[in-house]
Amino acid sequence: MPTRRHFLIALVATQLSRIAHAAGAPAQLSLTPTCDHDDDLTSAQTEGPYFTPASPEKQDFASDAPDGEKMILAGYVLTEDCQPVAKALIELWHADESGTYDNSGYKLRGHQFTDGDGKWWFETIVPGTYPSRTRHYHLKVQRPGGSVLTTQLYFPDEPLNARDRIFNASLLLDVSATGDGKFGRYDFIVA
Ligand code: FE
Repeated sequence: MPTRRHFLIALVATQLSRIAHAAGAPAQLSLTPTCDHDDDLTSAQTEGPYFTPASPEKQDFASDAPDGEKMILAGYVLTEDCQPVAKALIELWHADESGTYDNSGYKLRGHQFTDGDGKWWFETIVPGTYPSRTRHYHLKVQRPGGSVLTTQLYFPDEPLNARDRIFNASLLLDVSATGDGKFGRYDFIVA
């Protein structure tokens, strides 16, 4: 019987391959075309004041904020020479639609591991903004045996990006619309 999870797995696969094809990658490759051998490591950013350690393993953040605008976050974890990294840790935490963090529990906080193709995804919502910050997600990424990358991801076409002193344009999500909310892709390149 089809489940929401099955639907999402298919949606993520379709979206990731659509973007790869649109950018000219060979159809048989699932790898991102945005990685070439000159690509730099993904930029690190401040953790900020709202990280809570020991989050649960979780892929469904959307249930934590049912009034938020649905957004799937997805992509790959790659090495500097574009090889996918399986079993990489991806930790995600962010504000709810009103710009508020859950600092007493684990709403909109969790982690998971990349699959055998180096692919990761979360079903979540579009975070709200809060004073002094543009719209953003917080993440930590770590390949097995590697160091922890702490960073943030951003939305294109946000007026507040230009006024946010932490914002980095190399950390913009590739955002598209699906029949089920927004889809944002980012491929991490880790040491
Ligand atoms: Fe934040």
